[in-house]
Amino acid sequence: AAKQQGRNRFNYFAPFMQEATHVRMNLVSELREAVARDQLRILYQPIIALASGAIVKAEALVRWQHPVRGLLNPAEFITVAESSGMIIGIGDWVFRQAAREAQKLQAISTPAFQVSVNKSAWQFRDDGSNYQEWLDFLQELQLNPNSIIIEVTENLLLETASNNSDRTLAFQHAHMQISLDDFGSGHCSIAFLKRFDVDYLKIDPVFVSNLIEGGDGLLICEAIIAMAHKLGIKVIAEGIETPQQLAILTAAGCDFGQGYLLSKPISGEELEKQLQKQCAPVYK
Ligand code: C2E
Ligand code: MG
Ligand code: MG
Ligand code: MG
Repeated sequence: AAKQQGRNRFNYFAPFMQEATHVRMNLVSELREAVARDQLRILYQPIIALASGAIVKAEALVRWQHPVRGLLNPAEFITVAESSGMIIGIGDWVFRQAAREAQKLQAISTPAFQVSVNKSAWQFRDDGSNYQEWLDFLQELQLNPNSIIIEVTENLLLETASNNSDRTLAFQHAHMQISLDDFGSGHCSIAFLKRFDVDYLKIDPVFVSNLIEGGDGLLICEAIIAMAHKLGIKVIAEGIETPQQLAILTAAGCDFGQGYLLSKPISGEELEKQLQKQCAPVYK
């Protein structure tokens, strides 16, 4: 009876399991092919200095130009890239592309222009040796390491701290800058911000979307900004979608803003054009 039951169970679950595994295996091999066939792209979302309205930074965001399904967002393939280990290679590629783009953008605008790159926890698990390769690459480009901001999550800081390797992160990126992504959504303590020598906080879009005059969202944003500034950390608000949110954040002293209201993620070429316009001398 047990055998019978076991077989039934097998029959019952197998189609679903096979299906799921099949889809995942397919995605893994497709992604591998995509990398080989140069189907990955990077879009850059402008980050604006709220005081001046000028584009002063940009975040590199990976895309997959799928031959059949069109332009895919990271949500469709980053998880698979991570669990298959491909994120290491993809992450290296994104970093190098972004660094080259930073070089172009700085030539057009100012040497202070920065490009940020997202780095997931999985990219820290390979003993961190790619850190030196990244620095070497920047040196090859003669690009100052502080041209690059590495975006990490609160959870990564927590993990790093609990592994007692909290020096690793700060050391690894000592010459590049660190930005804490989606701040307020995780469980990061204020002490960590100081300990990891964080340069930027990115306010989670959840708080930005709740911004109304006199509301809780505003209180939270103001508190984050005040705390960050006390610690010598600059603040970037993410997911700005309305003129009202922009006005409130600017009045609250937020340093930088990013969101669809200001610009969607665009190609490197498009960003270069925008910066050319922004930096064109005005004779009248
Ligand atoms: P993230 O780093 O928090 O990036 C911000 C996300 O918010 C981007 O989604 C961006 O397109 C989107 N966004 C920007 N402004 C607005 C807005 O006003 N409204 C709304 N609703 N969304 C906005 P995207 O490009 O789909 O990226 C999703 C996530 O994928 C990123 O979140 C990041 O965690 C991850 N990711 C992207 N590129 C890379 C990469 O090269 N490596 C790694 N490891 N992760 C990446
Ligand atoms: Mg980010
Ligand atoms: Mg630093
Ligand atoms: Mg974010």
